[in-house]
Amino acid sequence: MFEAATAHYWATGKRNFLDIAIKNADLLVKVFGDTANYEVPGHQIIETGLIKLYQITDNADYLKLAKKFLDLRGDVAHRKIHGAYNQDHLPVTQQDEVVGHAVRAVYMYAGMTDIAAIYGDKSYLNAVNNLWDNMVNKKLYVTGGIGARHDGESFGDNYELPNLTAYNETCAAIGSVYWNDRLFRLTGNSKYYDILERTLYNALIAGISLEGTEFFYPNPLESDGKYKFNAGVSCTRHAWFDCSCCPTNLIRFIPYIPNLIYATEGDNLYVNLFMSNKAAIPVQGKTVEIEQVSNYPWQGNVSFNVKTDQPQKFTLKIRIPGWAKNEVTPGMLYTYRDKSDATFQIVLNGSVIQSQVKTGYVEITKEWTGDNRIELVLPMEVRQVIASQEVSADQGLSSIEYGPLVYCVEEIDNRTHFDQLSIQPQARFSVAMQKDLLGGVNVIYEETGNDKAMFVPYYAWANRGVNKMKVWLPTHDFEEYDKNNYCIKRSIINAVSTTICK
Ligand SMILES: [Zn+2]
Repeated sequence: MFEAATAHYWATGKRNFLDIAIKNADLLVKVFGDTANYEVPGHQIIETGLIKLYQITDNADYLKLAKKFLDLRGDVAHRKIHGAYNQDHLPVTQQDEVVGHAVRAVYMYAGMTDIAAIYGDKSYLNAVNNLWDNMVNKKLYVTGGIGARHDGESFGDNYELPNLTAYNETCAAIGSVYWNDRLFRLTGNSKYYDILERTLYNALIAGISLEGTEFFYPNPLESDGKYKFNAGVSCTRHAWFDCSCCPTNLIRFIPYIPNLIYATEGDNLYVNLFMSNKAAIPVQGKTVEIEQVSNYPWQGNVSFNVKTDQPQKFTLKIRIPGWAKNEVTPGMLYTYRDKSDATFQIVLNGSVIQSQVKTGYVEITKEWTGDNRIELVLPMEVRQVIASQEVSADQGLSSIEYGPLVYCVEEIDNRTHFDQLSIQPQARFSVAMQKDLLGGVNVIYEETGNDKAMFVPYYAWANRGVNKMKVWLPTHDFEEYDKNNYCIKRSIINAVSTTICK
């Protein structure tokens, strides 16, 4: 309600909803702000809501209550603690592993990041850095999804990332986007947007059907067409659930996306996401008009027009995505099988910009006047991804990416040989835009195997009925593949040599 009331106030300037939220927040301050009350919320999210109310009203009581709810977690001195499931096993500043219910966790980490930013609190900053490092290096799916286990809707152990039974709640992906956006705003580092973009284009948007009417609660990376992973009721998306958090969360999130494209700080104007749009952005009191035209993520070309009425000096910071710099994710959890020599290019008013990438951005500092044309070219190629040796579920397997999109195979496109599909390390691929398929997508074909595989974007899967699906496929050398008994000797780049017989 606090989030909705603040959004309503920002959008309309009306106080009617805001005043109801304030009345409720004042009651919470009276009851839970009492120094003798040591209770904490069972499902974190109120912390960020209270902080938004504080930012509108300037009433520090709301900020203090949010911090109190966080400070009191893991407080064994005053009450019975609720354990790791509720992130109530340790004081938040001592937590360094993402555990328990994944949605509650990322909402809490978002609130902790707000506290780190507003109070300049180093112990909170240290904790969110440690938690993020743990998540990104040990508990993140290649789609950006988080929360491996159905049991408790929770994070698994380090490197526990099963594909068929992955939980990856849509709400957890949304919470991760909110958290990563805050970490970026606190630090100005693009690595958070690398995780955000991966999550947004894959784990998150997979949660909604192309029609916009049906939803995934969990988002697995494999389906056998039998296991009813979606809230126990179906193998595909569903219109509604008993606890319908994910559909409503998507509906609140999608209109928020424009807030993620740009950011400003002082005389820096950040471009974080690529999508066609027009924006008027205040930079140090003057308006900068910026227009993007792009067919991203189907193509890597993005055109910008940057316009100022009066001459104005500022730095335009254009994010160069990790995937365009041979980095699947920050850290070593996932890597591209082969290094690509292809690189990005930026042309400003006809001249190639020679610039180092600093904290993930190409910086263009100058006095901007009139219209300025910028062409960004990101190197879109089909890339094979392999997981760290620690991830047992992905050993001997590869997945396929194109730009920011993770791809998958569906049985409907690979009917005769779905269970035998594989990706050879030497495989070559072709890419084709199919306007009449799945709302218009780039389809990828493997060109080298005997049984050619067809790949579609992961987010678009399960839009053609119940269907087997895989993101990760076996990798094997040609001569070691015994078709007759489907016995695959996997002796590949990163895997321990194992023999798997079906
Ligand atoms: Zn949910």
